[in-house]
Parts: sequence; structure tokens; C-alpha cells
Amino acid sequence: MVVTRFAPSPTGYLHIGGLRTALFSYLWAKKNNGKFLLRIEDTDKARNSAEAAQAILDAFEWLGLEHDGEITYQSQRDEIYAKYIEQLLSEGKAYKCYMSKEELTELRETQMANKQRTMYDGRYRDFTGTPPEGVEPVIRIKAPQSGTIIVKDGVKGNVSFQAQDILDDFVIARADGAPTYNFVVAIDDHLMGVNEVIRGDDHLSNTPKQIVVYEALGFDIPSFYHVPMIHNHEGKKLSKRDGATDVMAYKEMGYLPQALLNFLVRLGWSHGDQEIFSMDEMKELFNPQDINKSASIYNTEKLDWLNSHYIKNSSNSDLAELLTDYDLILTSHDKKEIILDEMKDRAKTIKEMAELIKEILQTPTSYDEKAVKKAFKADSVAILNAFGAKVSTSKELHLPSDYHTLMEEVVNEMEIGFGKIGQPLRIALLGKLSGPGLDSVMAILGRDETLLRIANAITANS
Ligand code: GLU
Repeated sequence: MVVTRFAPSPTGYLHIGGLRTALFSYLWAKKNNGKFLLRIEDTDKARNSAEAAQAILDAFEWLGLEHDGEITYQSQRDEIYAKYIEQLLSEGKAYKCYMSKEELTELRETQMANKQRTMYDGRYRDFTGTPPEGVEPVIRIKAPQSGTIIVKDGVKGNVSFQAQDILDDFVIARADGAPTYNFVVAIDDHLMGVNEVIRGDDHLSNTPKQIVVYEALGFDIPSFYHVPMIHNHEGKKLSKRDGATDVMAYKEMGYLPQALLNFLVRLGWSHGDQEIFSMDEMKELFNPQDINKSASIYNTEKLDWLNSHYIKNSSNSDLAELLTDYDLILTSHDKKEIILDEMKDRAKTIKEMAELIKEILQTPTSYDEKAVKKAFKADSVAILNAFGAKVSTSKELHLPSDYHTLMEEVVNEMEIGFGKIGQPLRIALLGKLSGPGLDSVMAILGRDETLLRIANAITANS
């Protein structure tokens, strides 16, 4: 059974790079009827917070990414880690190192002066003497001192690390007993039954150390997939400015979960030139073997395009529900179907949609001066009055097409171009020359509000 995991450190919010590897791990587990587990790596007490852990869970809930089983919290597993440290010590695969801070500094300085790589020199590796007083030892693992460690990576191929270049006998427990990162990751992945690790390639350099731990403990080594980073247009690592913000900020900006997930799955993975993927398709088609070898480029236009697509294809009742997050309650509005039908083709985000709708529903209190100068002419009052007369007497006035017919009648009877009525009417209804189709706007507003706006505009601008 394929078991994957997502293992965030709750030092801040979940950002989209993390979410993307979580999504990849989730999809791969689901495709194989396997398990997708969640582990909160909260051992760094100074930098972790419960709020950040909660924010990660909130983001998962918003996106509908369900993990299997209980969440593993590393902060609750000290006893487990201590047991493995004891085991390695008793098997002679790890040892206590009594090197003092002063000794360490001295060693570093000498190595630097000799232009050597700074690393621990193994001085306590085979120590059998009496430990020096007053030094709480750290625990170091006996790492191979020569040879090659090969990370078999499903994205990058075989990546070789020279043991002597990258490994000193690294610390697995600090002087206060706290186990270190690479040690606990390997133990947890093993105990949780994780056999496929999909994570950012910023972790690739940790992997040989984790392999040393797996081997020392006799654990099977999982398959690894190290996913290249997401870059901005300049080819640099994505920064906050480019959109690498908190995943929940995408909710606030009005993106739909399906759009964000669809956007992320295509960052670094492709299936032919297909762009739109339903969740079921993603689960069916995703394969980490197809992850691109090079960095992917974050592209806001693409995200907006996908979001528009998913908005267009949402039901009106779903949209009405989503709009409530933006203080827009349409449920009792008798024109809500017309409003939503008109707006779902126009808005790139739910937030924008809420703003557009609010703009329509508010009676203008001022008029764009430039627009008035350009389009509210001497004959506009007569044209608007003629149209207003038709609006007040017409029997059937519900649909956009009903209003359109009346506009056409005025155009024909007064022998004018469509712009002659369209532009001043637009100013009257919306206060400016841009916005959605007028017939829809009037159908949304209804007869009385349409007449009121026409009258207001005539008073204000003539
Ligand atoms: N906790 C690590 C992080 O948030 C991930 C560790 C892993 O995936 O192995 O970057």
C-alpha cells in the first residue's frame, strides 16, 4: 500500500509551495488507494506555534484535502525518540561527544585557516576514557566515513553524495536530550509506514543523513521524490510579493479551492497539454514520475483564468453561498439568478464578483465627470425620458430581453444610434461608462429602481 505524508513545521502559515507537495502526496496516495498522513513537525519550541498548526489544518479543511488517521505531533513523541537513541548507543552506532563549545570553535577556526570544510573531526567516536567534567554530551551517530550515499530519487534520478564531503558524525540528540530534525524525520516516516516521500528539493541535502539513520536502525528506505521549487517570472525563488503568501489569503482574495488546486497541480506536473483537471482526474492521472525536473513558474494570469473557469461552472446556489463571505447576502433577492448568471461570466474572483454586484445594487450618488462630459449630451435627457416612459408603462418587464426590446424601440422611433441611448443610460444606472450589460443591470434593478436612477441622473446632469 502506498503511504505518503505531509510534514509541515508550524513556524508560519501554510504557503503554496508546501500545499503543492501536500497535494502531490495526497493525489498519489488516493490514486493508489493508499493513505495520506499528516505529521506536524513541532519540535522547535521557540519557532512553532499552536496557531500556525491550526492555520495549516484550516487550510486543509478549506481545500477539502483530508488526511487519513490521526495527526502525528512530533512534540508528543520524545519517549519514542529517546528509545531509539538508547538503542543506537547500546549497539555502538552512536556515541556521546563531550566536545566543549571552546573546542568546537577552535576546531572550526583551524579548519577555516587551512581552507578545509568545517566539520566535526570524530574525536569522540572511539572514546573510551573518563568523560570530562561539566560537559553535557551531545549524541552523534556513526556515519560512514567514506564511500557514496546514493539517493534514488524519482524526479532527479540517482543523486550521489560523497560520504566524506557531506557527513560528519552528525548530532542526533542535543545536550538537553532533544533529538534533531533528520533523526526524527527518519524514525517517524518509518513508524508511520510512509514508503513514498514527496517533498521540496530544498530537502534533498537532508536525505543522505536520513538514509544514514534508516540504515543504522535497519529500516527500509522509502522512495523519494524531490520536487523542484516554484519560481517567479525572473526565475527567482517565489517571494511573498509574487504570491507566496498564506494559502488562506487565496480564500480571502476570492479564489475557489478547485481553482487553486488545479493551478498547483500544473506547477511542476503535466499531462499532455491539458490544463483543466477535476479532482477525480487529478487523482486518476497524477504520477510523481511525471514531475518536471526543472523549476516551475508561478503565473497569476493562469490562476485567474482557472478561477474564472471554475466560477463560470459553479452553480448559482454555490456562488450565492460563497458571496456571503464578502457580506453579500443574495438569498432573498428575487433577481439573484439574473445577477449570478450575468456576473459569473465577468468576475475573476468571488471577491471581485461581490464588488461588482454591490456596485450595481447601490444607487449612484455621483457621476464620473469625464463620462458625463463625453456622453451626456443635449439630446440625452429627451432620449432617457422617452425610454423612462416606456419602462413605466410596459406590462411585461422581467428579463434582460424585455428591457432590451424597449431600448430598441427608442432607437428605432427616434432614429438614433444605439450609443445615443446606451451611454447616457449607463451613466444614469451605474454612474460611469463601464460595467456589465445594461439590459441585465435593469433586469436586476427592476422597474422602480431603473426609473429612479434615470430621474436622478437627469436632475444631476442637465
Ligand atoms: N518539516 C519540513 C518542512 O516543513 C518538511 C520535512 C519533510 O517533508 O521531510 O519543510
